[in-house]
This record gives sequence, structure tokens and C-alpha cells, in this order.
Amino acid sequence: MLAAAFALAGLVMGSVAGCLSYRLPRGIPVILDRSRCPACGTVLAARDLIPVLSWLLHKARCRHCGGAVSPRYPLVEIVTALLFVLAFRCAAGDLPIAVITSVGAFALVVIALADWETRIIPDAMLLLLLPVVVAWRWSVGGDWADGLAGACLAVAVGGGLRWAFRRWRGKDGLGFGDVKFLAVAGLAVGLSGLGGYLVACGLAGIVFGAVWRAAGRGAVFPFGPALSAGLLAGLLMPDLFSSGLFAVGSF
Ligand SMILES: [Zn+2]
Repeated sequence: MLAAAFALAGLVMGSVAGCLSYRLPRGIPVILDRSRCPACGTVLAARDLIPVLSWLLHKARCRHCGGAVSPRYPLVEIVTALLFVLAFRCAAGDLPIAVITSVGAFALVVIALADWETRIIPDAMLLLLLPVVVAWRWSVGGDWADGLAGACLAVAVGGGLRWAFRRWRGKDGLGFGDVKFLAVAGLAVGLSGLGGYLVACGLAGIVFGAVWRAAGRGAVFPFGPALSAGLLAGLLMPDLFSSGLFAVGSF
């Protein structure tokens, strides 16, 4: 019953995530501007905006102009719903942690998608992620000194990589958004989990980079999706990087 509620909330929040990940990096207002068909500009009604169902019922077309509606929207809704259910399962009955992790998953979906499509990590989502991580650390009983040390070292590693990449390749490999993200992620995984987290992100980056190149999108790929996937895994499994699967990389 509760799992179904998380799935439903995930569908709705996934719809919001699809919208935010499109609008935030492009500087389109997110509150006052109603959703419109990108092809004909018609303001969409509630019946056009039901997660997944509207897309299926209208056969992936706009009701007004017949223009194609990208499968991106239902896919983001389904993925977010699955992540919310996963957050609920991983919390094993601890409702506050399930809610906190779900909100974190929402922010990470927006960040990963925005970075993948526009190479911009929206500051607004980092500002949402920070209190989520603080609340999460509070709930799982993390050591704050470990968290702060993790944040500092993560920024140093991110800043160092950014500098090195610019120096050797002459272009930005790691954006400033990635460094800010690492500060928040470092606070979550702590100094004890930072090594494992970076190893996990590196592995995820190899996978995402291969997809990026297979899609013919160039040599330098955005690192936000890999950073997000790693942090999501860490939020779902609090011991993953400090004493779990990736503990080999611990400092
Ligand atoms: Zn239309």
C-alpha cells in the first residue's frame, strides 16, 4: 500500500523532473509559465499532463497539432517512480529516510538529465540536494566531522581534476557545476566513503561515456550523470562506500 503511494508520488514528481530538467538549464521560468506544446505553443490542460497515461492515450502526439511528443517525458516519469519505490524498499520501513531519499532521487534525476542534455547542472537542484543530504546524514546517524572532511577533500579532488584537465587538454572536462556537486556528495559519503564513491563514479562514467560516444556526441562527455548515479547508490545504501562493496577505495 505504501509502496504504491511512493510509486504514484514518483510518477507525479517524475513529471515535474521532466519539466525542470528542460526549463532550468535553459532559463525558462518554472513557476508562472504553464506547460505548452513545444511544437504549436498551445497551453496544455490537466488531461494532457497525466504522467505516462496522457502520452499513451494520445499515442505520443499533441492533441492540438499532432506534433510528436518525445518519449523522454514518460520515460523520466517511469524511472522516477521506480527510484521512489526503490527508496522505499531500501529504507526498510523507516519512513523519514524513504521520503528524504526519494527527494534526493528527484533532484539527482533532474541534475543527470539536465547535464546530459545541456551540460549544465542547475544550481537550484544543488540547493535542494544540500538540505536533503544534511537531513539524510542526520537520519542515518552519520559522523559530521567525517562528512565535512569528505566535502573538503571532494572539492579539492574536483578542483584539482578540473585544473589538470584544462591544463593538459586545453578545455573543460569537469565543469564548475561538477565541483559544486562533489562538495555536496562529499558531505554525504564522508571522508570514509569518498574513495569508494569516486571509484564508483569512475565506473559509471565509463559506461555513460561509452553511450555518449556511441551516440556520436563528441569526445568530452558530461560527468553529472555518473556523479548522480554514484550519489544515488550511496543514499540508498548508506554503508556502500565506507564498509560495503566499494570500501576497497576508502581513504
Ligand atoms: Zn501541439
